[in-house]
Amino acid sequence: MTARPNIPAVAPAPLAARIGRQWDADIVPQLVEYIRIPARSPHFDADWAANGHIEAAIRQTEKWVNAQGVEGLVAEIVRIDGRTPVLYFDMPATGGLPSGRSVLFYGHLDKQPEMTGWREGLGPWKPVMEEGRLYGRGGADDGYAVFAALSAVMALDAEGIARPRCVGLIETCEESGSYDLPAYLDHLAPRMGDVQLVVALDSGAGNYEQLWVTTSLRGLVNGTLEVKILEEGVHSGDAGGVVPSSFRIARAILDRIDDSRTGVVGPDAFNCAIPADRLDQARQAAAILGEATWKRFPWASSCCDDQASASIFAEPVTKDPVEVVINRTWRAALAVTGADGLPPTDMAGNVQRPFTTLKLSLRLPPIVDANAAAATFKRILEADPPYGARVAFDYDQAAQGWNAPAIAPWLAAALDAASQGNFGRPAAYMGEGGTIPFMGMLGVKFPNAQMLVTGVLGPKSNAHGPNEFLHVPYAKKVTVATAMVIAAVR
Ligand SMILES: [Zn+2]
Repeated sequence: MTARPNIPAVAPAPLAARIGRQWDADIVPQLVEYIRIPARSPHFDADWAANGHIEAAIRQTEKWVNAQGVEGLVAEIVRIDGRTPVLYFDMPATGGLPSGRSVLFYGHLDKQPEMTGWREGLGPWKPVMEEGRLYGRGGADDGYAVFAALSAVMALDAEGIARPRCVGLIETCEESGSYDLPAYLDHLAPRMGDVQLVVALDSGAGNYEQLWVTTSLRGLVNGTLEVKILEEGVHSGDAGGVVPSSFRIARAILDRIDDSRTGVVGPDAFNCAIPADRLDQARQAAAILGEATWKRFPWASSCCDDQASASIFAEPVTKDPVEVVINRTWRAALAVTGADGLPPTDMAGNVQRPFTTLKLSLRLPPIVDANAAAATFKRILEADPPYGARVAFDYDQAAQGWNAPAIAPWLAAALDAASQGNFGRPAAYMGEGGTIPFMGMLGVKFPNAQMLVTGVLGPKSNAHGPNEFLHVPYAKKVTVATAMVIAAVR
C-alpha cells in the first residue's frame, strides 16, 4: 500500500455557489455574445484576418479577462507576424506559494464551420438556451474554456484558498490543427514559469455524471484522393462496360485501407499494440457507460431497436461496450468526408464521369507515428493503379496522436476528490477518438508536467456537427472540479 498523497482538503460547496452565480450572471451572457461571432478557424475562412471575426472573439475575451479584477493579473493579446493571435494571461500565486511554479490553462476561440442539419429554431451563430443547454457553434468547443479557467481561479481567491501561479494560453487556430501554436509556445514558454500541470479544457466526457479525464487522443491524416480515367465525361450508354467507373476504381483502392464490409483498417502501419493500463481503463469506462457508448449517436438505422439482431454490426463494429471504447480510441478508422466530380443528384445526367475526388480522413491510434503513417497511406493508395488510371493522394495534415504520461499520485487523488465532491462519483479515465494536435505539442514543450485534459463535450453535445450545445450545469461542475485540482498543485 502506498500512503494516500497529502492534498489540501477543499470543500466544494462554497466554490460551487460562487462559480454557479458567476456562470449564470456573467459567463452565459458572454458566451451568448461569443456564439454570435462566426469566428471560423483559418482553414474554413481563408480571409480570417480581413473578416475580423477571430479578432472580435479574442478582443471580447481579453476585455472580459481584464475586467475581472484578479489581483496582479496581466492579460494581453500576443501577435506574431503572419499568424493567428493568442490571448495570454498570468495570475501570480497566492497564499505564499512559490512564484516560479505554475499551472498552464489551454483553450481556443476559433470555431468549426456551420455544418447543415441544425434543428428548426437553432443555428450556428444563433445562441439559444434550452433546458440548461446553450446551443450554438463554439460555446462548448471551446469558448467556455477561458471563462471557466478564470472563474475557477477567482473562486479560490475569493474563498482565500492558496493556489499556484496560473497562466493561460488561448489560441485561435486549433480547428486548423494548431499550426501556429508551436511558435507561440516557443515565444511564451520563457514567461510561463515552471509548469507543473497543464489544464486543457477542450475535451470530451462520457456522461454528465462524473469528471472525465482524457488519457489519449487519436492521430489523423487528412487528404484528397483523385482518380481520373477520362479527359472528359462521355455518354454512359456509349462507354459503360468499356470505360471503368472512376468511382468503382476509388472504391477498390479504398479497400486496401479498410475492409468495406467491416470497417477494419488492415495495414500494420495504422495499428499498434494497446497498453495494458489503457485496456484496463477502457474496461472501467465501458462498465460505467454500457450501451450508451454506441447508443449516444443519432442513428438513422434500426440497429438500436432491442429486437435488432447483433449481426447488424459486423465485426469489429460491435455492440460490446469494451470493444466500442477500444475501437473509438485505440484503433484506426477511415471516413470519406467530401467529394468532387459528382454532380448533385438532380443535375446528374447519364454520364460516365471523368474523375472522382474523395476527401479522406484516417484516424490513427495514439502512439502510431502520424507522419510515417501519412507517407504509407499515400504509397498504398497510389501503388499499381487499376486500369492505369491517374491516381494521386495529397495530404495536408498529419496530426500526431497523444498518450498521457503516467499520472502522479497527487493528481489522481485530487481528481478523485474533485469528482466525488461535485458528483458523488469517482473520476473516470478514457481515451478520446478525436485528434487534438496541441496535446502532442504541449507534451513536447512540458515533458515533466502533469496533464489534465478534460471537457464538457458529453453525449449529444455534437461539437463540429449541427446542434452543438454547452451543458451549462455540467460546465459549472467541471469549473469547480478544476478549481479543486489546481488548489492541490504545490
Ligand atoms: Zn476544441
